[in-house]
Amino acid sequence: MGKTLACKDVGVNCDFVITGKDEADVLRQAAAHAKDCHHDIQITPAVQAKIRAAIKEEGGGCCGGSCH
Ligand SMILES: [Zn+2]
Repeated sequence: MGKTLACKDVGVNCDFVITGKDEADVLRQAAAHAKDCHHDIQITPAVQAKIRAAIKEEGGGCCGGSCH
């Protein structure tokens, strides 16, 4: 199962949702998206940590998919 990240879960007012095959893939796409759409956001280690915390299992339910 892949990973998914909603831009708004990182605290940005944006409906963009990223899906990737793993966390690194999502992080890479998030960096590319931020570069294109969020010129005010720098992908610092702190922002990366925030992104990692907001990444969910694709199709996850109550627990992000980890208990199913
Ligand atoms: Zn966005």
